[in-house]
Amino acid sequence: MSQTSWKEQIKKKWGPHAHCTICGKAVPPDKKFCGQGCRDKYLGYETKQKKKGRFQMLFLLGMMGVMFFMMFFVFRL
Ligand SMILES: [Zn+2]
Repeated sequence: MSQTSWKEQIKKKWGPHAHCTICGKAVPPDKKFCGQGCRDKYLGYETKQKKKGRFQMLFLLGMMGVMFFMMFFVFRL
């Protein structure tokens, strides 16, 4: 791991850099995360979000179906 070298580089000269997507630490511009820990966190978060998104879609579709069904009955009565 060359973590100390890029940290020193940043100390020497605050050149082009990016920030860790998870904790916001300065990272080399070609990296999205400061370390494996944040990478894992991000990947876990992304998977969770995807699952949540799918569930929300299904829930919304279900609600729409119920609303449609109810409206159908209300207008018939
Ligand atoms: Zn981080």
